[in-house]
Amino acid sequence: MSDTTLPVADGGSLRRYAVDLARRHPRLLWTALVLHVLAAVAGLAAPRLLGGLVEAVETGSTTSHVDRVVLALFGFLVLQTVLTRYARYVSQVLGEQVLAELREDFVQNSLALPVGVVESAGSGDLLTRTSRDVEQLGWSVRWALPEWTIACVTAVLTFAAALSVGWWVALPCLFGVPPLVVGLRWYLARAKDGYLRESATYSQISATLTETVEGSRTVEALGLGRERVTAIDADIDDSYAAERYTLHLRTVFFPSMDISYIIPTVLTLLYGGYLYSQGSVSLGDVTTAVLYVQMLIDPVDRVVAILDELQMGAASLARLLGVAQVPDDREVSGREPAGEQLAAHDVRFSYVEGRDVLHGVDLDVGVGERIAMVGPSGAGKSTLGRLLAGIHPPRTGEVTVGGVGLVELPLGDLRGHVALVTQEHHVFVGSLRENLALAAPEGATEDDVRAALAAVDALDWADALPEGLSTEVGSGGHTLHAAQAQQVALARLVLADPHTLVLDEATSLIDPRAARHLERSLAAVLEGRTVIAIAHRLFSAHDADRVAVVEDGVIAELGSHDDLVAADGSYAALWRSWNGS
Ligand code: ADP
Repeated sequence: MSDTTLPVADGGSLRRYAVDLARRHPRLLWTALVLHVLAAVAGLAAPRLLGGLVEAVETGSTTSHVDRVVLALFGFLVLQTVLTRYARYVSQVLGEQVLAELREDFVQNSLALPVGVVESAGSGDLLTRTSRDVEQLGWSVRWALPEWTIACVTAVLTFAAALSVGWWVALPCLFGVPPLVVGLRWYLARAKDGYLRESATYSQISATLTETVEGSRTVEALGLGRERVTAIDADIDDSYAAERYTLHLRTVFFPSMDISYIIPTVLTLLYGGYLYSQGSVSLGDVTTAVLYVQMLIDPVDRVVAILDELQMGAASLARLLGVAQVPDDREVSGREPAGEQLAAHDVRFSYVEGRDVLHGVDLDVGVGERIAMVGPSGAGKSTLGRLLAGIHPPRTGEVTVGGVGLVELPLGDLRGHVALVTQEHHVFVGSLRENLALAAPEGATEDDVRAALAAVDALDWADALPEGLSTEVGSGGHTLHAAQAQQVALARLVLADPHTLVLDEATSLIDPRAARHLERSLAAVLEGRTVIAIAHRLFSAHDADRVAVVEDGVIAELGSHDDLVAADGSYAALWRSWNGS
């Protein structure tokens, strides 16, 4: 379904965001770093002490000297343990805070996404980003980032300590650098794309799965089971290939790392032995140097191995930040509408670039007027309805209320002017009261909520629920049947109180037994408002003030029922066929 996916942030904005996040917590960051440095320094005492011990034994030392060294070793071990504990604690606190902010930013950005973008990108992509990417990033921030920092600090300090034994130690270490750098560069050049591709394949799997589940009735009705399984199999094959590729990267990379670690240790021992035989260094120095170089392996290995983890984290972060890069399709201007008149001027719109489905629509809706929109299926009625309700911004031209473009109004205000009513009536998880109150931008009192329910004739059943308005409804809660859910949607409209409503097939799928009841609820909501009804049954057009006939993305005819019948155009033809005359 979705060939366009949401954007992915580039390296530059990724770095800017990371720096910005770090800057928000300078104290925690520095405390963590200082503690890690101190812990690493405490850990560096051991090789020194052991080197000294070797020398002491060589020169014939006493057991009391050995005891003192052992005691000192123990003391440094305890010190290192305590420091490490606090260092980790502070890092974790920092990690959790950063993660919480990341999640908040992501939620904000997701909610700000234009509806059109979510529709064309498919919900699978957004779903993978909210689940898998947030999880991956959580792992990176909680674990990988602190560990990596510790490893870096330890590696640098250990190397400094090794050099403090003598500059000659640098030489064997140098030989380990080329394989390390070559292997790392080879890997990093490929890893990010590899992991991004891997994540994209997960998105595709979720997309296909959600699509199959959401459309399960269609799948069953048309016997599409096989096709869906084949589609999912193809997605899994892609995912398998992507995972194999990153696995291949790791199987080349990790062995090349191991080689670069062994070289310095062996060379330090050989070179140190040679220098000792020349009498230029002591046995204690060689011991200390070899121990330090060996100690270097562990942190360097962690630096490199966690880079892998961080890469995956960076790929996830790029996908999370990418959501913020979707250009906003609204631009709040702060202008206040003068009046309630809705108007469209030369409106053009396309779902797919280069294929307009509306070709210059003009419509001035009178305040309090009832307009019925009719026309063949696919003509663009629903699309025009969505544009008139401000769901999509027009590609060119404008839709205005009181002279101000709908895209200039803050979303909360827009709902107070014009709202779209469709067959979709979602019941959110939460109490019935919350389900209604969310429609009122400034919050609703208990009286408001009850009045809204009463207006749509729903107060009786609402009060009869196990816990009245506090009853938990929505997925997992008390189940409302379709007609009740529709009434909840209507009551929300009463609370949002828009002066103009766009009805799209508002009541056509209702259980016929409940239909009459609902017609009354709907009529109560329509009372005193401007209404544009997308009429799929002609008789409602008969009652409208004006009828707009939409054909091929333009309003082909516009006028009262009687005028249009007299004009003898397509509406008249429709009307005749409807009446069977
Ligand atoms: P109507 O309500 O008159 O049946 P629509 O407004 O639903 O017509 O559709 C107008 C045209 O826009 C049709 O060609 C339809 O295929 C296309 N269209 C509708 N929705 C979408 C969408 N989400 N993405 C792409 N094309 C769409």
